[in-house]
Amino acid sequence: MASGDVETFAFQAEINQLLSLIINTFYSNKEIFLRELISNASDALDKIRFESLTDKSKLDSQPELFIHIVPDKASNSLSIIDSGIGMTKSDLVNNLGTIARSGTKEFMEALAAGADVSMIGQFGVGFYSAYLVAEKVVVISKHNDDEQYIWESQAGGSFTVTKDTSGEQLGRGTKITLYLKDDQLEYLEERRLKDLIKKHSEFISYPISLWTEKTTEKEVSDDEEEEDKEKKDEEGKIEEIDEDKEKEEKKKKKVKEVSHEWSLVNKQKPIWMRKPEEITKEEYAAFYKSLTNDWEEHLAVKHFSVEGQLEFKAVLYVPKRAPFDLFDTKKKLNNIKLYVRRVFIMDNCEDLIPEYLSFVKGVVDSEDLPLNISRETLQQNKILKVIRKNLVKKCIEMFFEIAENKEDYNKFYESFSKNIKLGIHEDSQNRSKLADLLRYHSTKSGDEMTSLKDYVTRMKDGQSDIYYITGESKKAVENSPFLERLKKKGYEVLYMVDAIDEYSVGQLKEYEGKKLVSATKEGLKLEESEDEKKKKEELKAMFEGLCKVVKDILGDKVEKVVVSDRVVDSPCCLVTGEYGWTANMERIMKAQALRDSSMSNYMSSKKTMEINPENAIMEELRKRADADKNDKSVKDLVLLIYETALLTSGFSLDDPNTFGNRIHRMLKLGLSIDEDETAVDADTEMPSLEDAADAEGSKMEEVD
Ligand code: ADP
Ligand code: MG
Repeated sequence: MASGDVETFAFQAEINQLLSLIINTFYSNKEIFLRELISNASDALDKIRFESLTDKSKLDSQPELFIHIVPDKASNSLSIIDSGIGMTKSDLVNNLGTIARSGTKEFMEALAAGADVSMIGQFGVGFYSAYLVAEKVVVISKHNDDEQYIWESQAGGSFTVTKDTSGEQLGRGTKITLYLKDDQLEYLEERRLKDLIKKHSEFISYPISLWTEKTTEKEVSDDEEEEDKEKKDEEGKIEEIDEDKEKEEKKKKKVKEVSHEWSLVNKQKPIWMRKPEEITKEEYAAFYKSLTNDWEEHLAVKHFSVEGQLEFKAVLYVPKRAPFDLFDTKKKLNNIKLYVRRVFIMDNCEDLIPEYLSFVKGVVDSEDLPLNISRETLQQNKILKVIRKNLVKKCIEMFFEIAENKEDYNKFYESFSKNIKLGIHEDSQNRSKLADLLRYHSTKSGDEMTSLKDYVTRMKDGQSDIYYITGESKKAVENSPFLERLKKKGYEVLYMVDAIDEYSVGQLKEYEGKKLVSATKEGLKLEESEDEKKKKEELKAMFEGLCKVVKDILGDKVEKVVVSDRVVDSPCCLVTGEYGWTANMERIMKAQALRDSSMSNYMSSKKTMEINPENAIMEELRKRADADKNDKSVKDLVLLIYETALLTSGFSLDDPNTFGNRIHRMLKLGLSIDEDETAVDADTEMPSLEDAADAEGSKMEEVD
C-alpha cells in the first residue's frame, strides 16, 4: 500500500486506561459498538448537513448523505462508512486519542461502580467501544479542508496517522474498519447486523444500507417458454408443477451466481418526524409494539410537535392495561425514550415525566438538547424542564380524549385511576385539571360512575358542599350510618373506596369552589330550618346528662360525646376530627407495617361519639341514666353500643373477645338463660377451647 510518512502518537493516559479496560474486561453487551459508530456517523452527517445550510458547496465533494455497512468475510472485517463531515489530520489526532474528554474518567468510575458498558455513549467516548469487538481499527477520513488520512491502532498505547495515498477516494466522510477478534465474527452475519441496526439505530434519519451478498441458483434450461408458463400457473396447480419440475430437472443444469447489493435497513424517517395525518393507525400500532414489546395495541396515542423558543416532537402512548409492576418503586421504568436530533440518548430518563405518568410510553426528540448530554447535567437542564411540562400537559389532553369514549375510558380508569389520584396528590399545578378525570360510584350513580362535574349538576338547592365517604369497599360504605341524614335530605354522597382516595381527596379539598366534605368527620353541617334548629336545641338540652354519663363510661376512648346531626336510624356513630384520620385511613395505616407509630398516635383516636336522640335505645338509656347515674346496666349497654359503633363506623375492634362476650350475655338475657347456671356447667364439664377463652374473657371483665 502506497502511503505517506507514518506518524506515531501515544494515547493520552486516561484513554489508554479506558482502552485496556474495554479490551480486558468481560462485557456481555458488546453489540452496542455498532450503535455507537452509527451514532457517530449520524453526528458527522448532521454536522455537514448543518454546514450546508449556509454553504451548499460543502456537499459537492459527496452530494449524497448515507451510512454504509460493509462486512467482509475474506478479511474478517466490518466497515462503517459515512459521507459526513469527516476528520482532518488534526481531528484524527485530537479526537481519537490525544485529548481526553472529561467523560473518560467518569465512565471508568461508573464502570467500576457497576454501570453497563452500553452507557459509554453518554460519556462521550463511544468511539472506543470499537475495541469491544476489534483487535485492530483503521479509520480513513476525508474532510473538505484537508487531505485523506489514515488513523490506525491495535490499542497497546499508541496509534499512527498517515496520509492516504492508496488512491481509494472517499470524496468526503469517514470509513471505520474493524478487524474483528476471532470470537466476534458474528458481526459479519447479515441477519445479525440487520437485527442490530433495527434494534438500536432504526430511527437514524439517514439511510443505513448493508452490503449484502446474494447467491442465486440459476437453472439453465433448454425450454425457456415452459418455465414462463410454470410461473404463471404457480398458485393454482402446485402438484402439477412439482411433477413438471421433476421431469425438467433432468434436463437442467444449476449455476451458482453471487451478486452484491445495498440493502436499506432502517426506515429513514422516524414516525414522529412524519405528519400525523399521513400515518395510519396500523403504523402507530406497529411503532408502539416495537417500542414496548407489548403484544396488544395501544389504547391511545398523541403525536405532536412543539415549536417556538424550544423545539421537540413526541409520540406518546397509553397502553391498554397496567403492567404488573406499575407501582414497584425498585424497578426503574424506561418508558419514554429520549432522542436528540434523531439520535437515541437514553430510555430511562426519570426527569422527563413525573412518576404518576410512568405508565405513558413513547419517544421525545429534542432539537435543542446537546447530543452528548450526561445524565447528571440533564437533571439541571432547563430545556428538559420545559419539555417535561409540555409532556404532562399533552398526557392530560390525551386522557381527556380517551374520556370522550366511555368504553375506552372505563378501560383506562380501571387500569390507571390510581395514577390519576397520585397525580392529584403530587402535581399541584395540574390538580384541578386532573380532578375532572376522577370518577366515583355514589349514592345516586347506580352501576355507572360519576364525575365531579356531573355531581355538581345534580346538587340540590341549598347544597353547598360535595359529600363523600371513604371506606374499604362500596359494599362497606353503602349502608353506613353516616349517610342516613344525607340520604334523607336527598344529598348525593361519593363513595371513595380506593386506599389512595384518602390521600388524593386530602389534597384536592375542593372542586369548582365547592368544599369536599367527609360524611364521617366532624364539621359536617347541614342546612336546617328554624324549626329544626329549635328542636335540636331542645334535644341537646335533654340529652346533656346522658352525654356526660356516656363520656364518663368511655373515658379516653372518645374525645367527646355530642348529639348528632347525621344519624337518622342508628343509635350512634363515631366521627373523626376534620383534620385527623378517618376510620378508613386508620385501617390503611394499620395495614402498613412500617408506619410511624408516633404519627398514628397523633392522627388517630380523636373520635367523637355522636348519639341519635330520636333512637329508641338512646331514649331508654337517657331515662335510665337520668334515674340513676350509676345504673350498672347503663354502663354495660353504653360499652356495647360503643363497640358496635366502632364496627358500623368502619373502625376495627381492639378486643373482639370482650365484645363477643358482651353479645353472648345479651343473647342469654334474650333467651332467658340463667347466667350462673351455665357458668357451673362449663366448670364441671371439660370446656372446649372456645369456651375456655370465653370464661377467661368474662373473668377479665369482672376485674375490669
Ligand atoms: P462523541 O460521539 O460523544 O463525541 P465519540 O467517542 O463517539 O464521542 O467520538 C469522538 C469524536 O470523534 C467525535 O466527537 C467526533 O469529533 C469524532 N468522530 C468519531 N466518529 C466520527 C465520524 N464517523 N465522522 C467524523 N468524526 C467522527
Ligand atoms: Mg459518539
